Amino acid sequence: MKLHEYQAKDLFRQWNIPVPAGQMVTSADEASRAATSLTGPPWVVKAQVHAGGRGKGGGVQVLKQADQVGPAAERMLEKALVTKQTGPAGVHVHQLLIEEGIDIDRELYLSMVIDRASARPTMIFSQEGGMEIEEVAAQSPNLILKESIDPATGWMPYQARNLIFRLNPPLPQEAVRPMMALMDRVYRAFTALDASLIEINPLVTTPAGQVVAVDAKMSIDDNALYRHKELQPLDDPREKDPLEVMAEAHNLNYIRLDGNIGAMVNGAGLAMATMDVIKLAGAEPANFLDVGGGANEEMITRGFEIILKDDRVRAILINIFGGILRCDVLARGVLAAAKKVDISVPLIVRLEGTNVEEGRDILNQSGLDFLVAKDMAEAAQLVAKQVS
Ligand code: GDP
Ligand code: MN
Repeated sequence: MKLHEYQAKDLFRQWNIPVPAGQMVTSADEASRAATSLTGPPWVVKAQVHAGGRGKGGGVQVLKQADQVGPAAERMLEKALVTKQTGPAGVHVHQLLIEEGIDIDRELYLSMVIDRASARPTMIFSQEGGMEIEEVAAQSPNLILKESIDPATGWMPYQARNLIFRLNPPLPQEAVRPMMALMDRVYRAFTALDASLIEINPLVTTPAGQVVAVDAKMSIDDNALYRHKELQPLDDPREKDPLEVMAEAHNLNYIRLDGNIGAMVNGAGLAMATMDVIKLAGAEPANFLDVGGGANEEMITRGFEIILKDDRVRAILINIFGGILRCDVLARGVLAAAKKVDISVPLIVRLEGTNVEEGRDILNQSGLDFLVAKDMAEAAQLVAKQVS
C-alpha cells in the first residue's frame, strides 16, 4: 500500500523524524488559510499523488509570497498533473500539502528497502539527493552507499558512521548527530510499521546544521496490513486503476498492461508464460490476471467481468490448467459473467486438467460463441489472429 507524502510525514512526526511543518488541504481557500498559519517565506505547495517526479512536472512550487499560495493551489487542483511516472494523460490532484519552506544547504538521498539478494533491510544513502536515484545509479554508482542490516542486532551506530563519513565533502559536524538519530529512527519505523519502502529524497541539511526530510515516500507491505489497523484508512483508491481496485476487492491478482488481448489464467507462472506466448504470436496482453488455484465461481465471474470492462480488449484468451481449480468451476464462472456482461469480442479457450470434459460440456452447451485451442501455442496464434 502506497502512502501519500503527507501521510508518510505524519508517521515520520510520530517517529521523531524531522519534517517541515505543514497541512494537507483540498481547496484553494484552505490553502491560503494554511499559508497564513505557517512560517515563511518561502511556502511550498505540493501535489499529493502517488506518482513521483512532481518537481519537474509543476507539482511542487516554492513561493516567495503567502498570497501566491491560493492561486498556485487552484491551478494545481484544476489541471491534471503530468510527470515522468504518470503517462501523458496525467493524474487528477485531489489533495495538496502546504508547507513552510526549508532553507536548503545540501540535498542528500536516504532510503530503506528490503534487498532481495541479501534478504535484509538495507539503507541506501547518497550525496546526490534531489535527483532520480536511478540516474545516479547509472551515472555514478560509486556515490550510492549501502548498509545491510542484520535483523538480530538491528541498525548499529557504526553503520550510520560508515555512511555519513563517506560523504564528500563531509557533513558539517553539527549535522552528524541528528543524521545518526534520523537513520536509527528510519530503521525503527521501517520495521515497526512493516514498510516495504521508505524514501527521503531530498533529505536536506540547513545552514543551521539541522537535518530535515523535505520529501517522503512510503509503502506498507500489504501482507502485514492485517496487524496495522491504524494504517488501513490511509489507503487511497482514487490513486489506483479502478479495475485493479475491483480485482483487489475479490482477491484476484490483476495488473493492467498496455495491449489489447485480455487474458484469464490460473497460476502466476502460467499467466507469465501466457503473456509470453501472446507476445511471441505478435500481439500484446492487456492484462496479467492470475485467478489463483483456490478461485471459486464468484471469483472467476468477477475476473471475467473485469476483463470485459476494459474497453481496449479486442479478444480474450482463457488459459486454464485445472489442478486445484477445476475446469467445471471455471466454465460456470465464465457463463455467469457472460450473462451479466455482453461478450462482444472473440473468445479463445484452452482448458486442460481436472474435470476438463465437464468444463468443455458446460461451455459447449452454453450457446456461447468461442474457439477452442488444443494447446497454448495454438491458443496464442488464434487470439493474435483476431486482432491483426
Ligand atoms: P518530487 O519531485 O515529486 O520528488 O518532489 P520533492 O518533494 O522531492 O520536491 C522537488 C524539489 O523541490 C526538491 O528537490 C527541492 O529542490 C524543492 N523543494 C521542495 N521543498 C522545498 C523547500 O521547502 N524549500 C526549498 N528551497 N526547496 C524545496
Ligand atoms: Mn522527491
